[in-house]
Amino acid sequence: MERQGNIRISSENMMPIIKKWLYSEKDIFLREIVANASDAITKLKKLVSLGEAEDDAPYKITVTVDSKAGTLCVEDNGIGMTEEEVETYITQIAFSGAADFVDKYEKAGGEGIIGHFGLGFYSAYMVSENIEIFTKSYKAGSEGVHWESDGNSTYSIGSCEKETRGTKIVMHIAKEEKEFLSEATIRRLLDKYCSFMPYEIYLDPKEGEENKPVNTPVPLYMKQPKDCTEEEYKSFYRDTFADYQEPLFWIHLNMEYPFRVKGILYFPKVKKQVELERGQVKLYCNQVYIADNIKEVIPEFLMLLNGVIDCPDIPLNVSRSFLQNDAQVQKIAKHITKKVADKLCELYRNERERYEACWNDISTFVKFGCIKDDEFYKKVKDIIIYKNLAGEYRPLESYFGEEVKEEDAKAGKEPQAAYYVSDENKQAQYIRMFRDAGLDAIVCDTFIDPHFISYIEFKNPTRVRFLRIDADVASSLKEDEGEDAELVEIFQKALEGRNVKVKTERLKNAAVPAVLNVSEFMRRMSEMNSFYRMGDSPEDVTLVVNTANPAVAALKGCAEEDRKDAAEQIYLLAYMNYKPLSPDDLEKFTANSVRLIEKSLKK
Ligand code: ADP
Repeated sequence: MERQGNIRISSENMMPIIKKWLYSEKDIFLREIVANASDAITKLKKLVSLGEAEDDAPYKITVTVDSKAGTLCVEDNGIGMTEEEVETYITQIAFSGAADFVDKYEKAGGEGIIGHFGLGFYSAYMVSENIEIFTKSYKAGSEGVHWESDGNSTYSIGSCEKETRGTKIVMHIAKEEKEFLSEATIRRLLDKYCSFMPYEIYLDPKEGEENKPVNTPVPLYMKQPKDCTEEEYKSFYRDTFADYQEPLFWIHLNMEYPFRVKGILYFPKVKKQVELERGQVKLYCNQVYIADNIKEVIPEFLMLLNGVIDCPDIPLNVSRSFLQNDAQVQKIAKHITKKVADKLCELYRNERERYEACWNDISTFVKFGCIKDDEFYKKVKDIIIYKNLAGEYRPLESYFGEEVKEEDAKAGKEPQAAYYVSDENKQAQYIRMFRDAGLDAIVCDTFIDPHFISYIEFKNPTRVRFLRIDADVASSLKEDEGEDAELVEIFQKALEGRNVKVKTERLKNAAVPAVLNVSEFMRRMSEMNSFYRMGDSPEDVTLVVNTANPAVAALKGCAEEDRKDAAEQIYLLAYMNYKPLSPDDLEKFTANSVRLIEKSLKK
């Protein structure tokens, strides 16, 4: 005979709330039910180890989908429950657990609880119109127990025939949730949430056939690093992230004390060099999947990597803002960051060639990490490398100058300029001049470099300032000479109406008639503005006329009518070395050239 009972008065309110809030993530019910099955086995194994229960491995969880009957079952051979336990655990504890969850959820005000962890047994009512439990406790002489409820307010409980120890949860799937009666859907969900759960999980096993579990009960990250082979790391990567490019290298986290963190972080090959490529860091708690890319637990920049992290010590059924401020969580995040930095330093020290070969792929990550996390910056600042004009990698710090003393800085002394190239083609003219003069420059050509060099200047205000190679004329490229006012005037006249300043210098390289300088400050402003889509700001360009160049010198003596064409032509030549000419200027340049050729041929 089955007894009837009331779950609790307020349950009429609870279910609609759960259904409404978690609507988009109702999938998690399967994780909750399978995790309960897994816990039940763990509890039994514990009793076995204490000699309080009989061991009868193999332990397993079986999931069956019966679309005809409209049911989804999860069965375990774990600890089972007696009738009183069902009353206590399911009707009372599980219910209060769910009610607590709803309460916290409400308090968290929409910002949610990570992975909706901890909702428990009652989450199955998101997809079921009715649930039955068949269970038999491990305790000697136990009878089978049957419990049933539609989750609203009443339930019935009584004894039943059950041969085997353990629990079977039968979910009668609601009409509008038919998708959970598709084996493919259930396989996908088991794959997402349960692939590392510690006991074998079988989906719709066929009798008489050899069935394979859908999960990996001992995922690689749970093993000791010394027991894992390179091939295993690579295949774990392929299987977990469906990325067929091999990872560059990886970090196996394996910490027991003072908190537990296990996991593997992989550095993927970068596909495009033009933006931050999001990776995927999957968070697990005791081998149960929680969610991806949880920025409250894992530092944001680490999410450019691919990895799995298992942190059993993180309180998960709390609000996100609580997590953000939790000291334990912060310690864990710091530990992970430190491990990543250590690994990079170790590679740099012990495998420099490999480090340099990977640098292109990892540099965005390292630079972004520095900008985002000061601790990380402190740890890796010495292993940030940049190519020079000869294509050799050198530590960034080697391009810095001597520290400017405080009193000198007060008197206006700036730190030594580190010249950089952002585009080797566009800045070819300057590069040539630098090479001829035996000067070096840094190649800063990735999309993150403009942000990163500003950050480096900010961190090292007395040691370095960065100047793009065309921002001014480096002092070693020129000789001291006063301004040639006559030349300045000639050019100003010729360039009237154009937004360009004019000055003269005596360059050591006489072959170049003029170069264009683009103010570093204004250019950076303009780059930032266009980065944040705030529109272009005006350019601040200066034409530097080279008094050492014979053509320039000849300008002074030539006929008035030739001057304008020639001066303008010199400007356009310099401009072309900076960026492509506008259609109007290109036309002018062509016409000028033709006229000048004609004249020189006639002479
Ligand atoms: P939690 O698992 O967080 O404790 P649940 O609501 O999921 O909360 O479950 C409540 C309790 O019901 C569990 O703590 C456990 O004692 C019992 N229970 C649930 N599922 C099973 C199962 N498959 N086997 C044995 N006990 C179970």
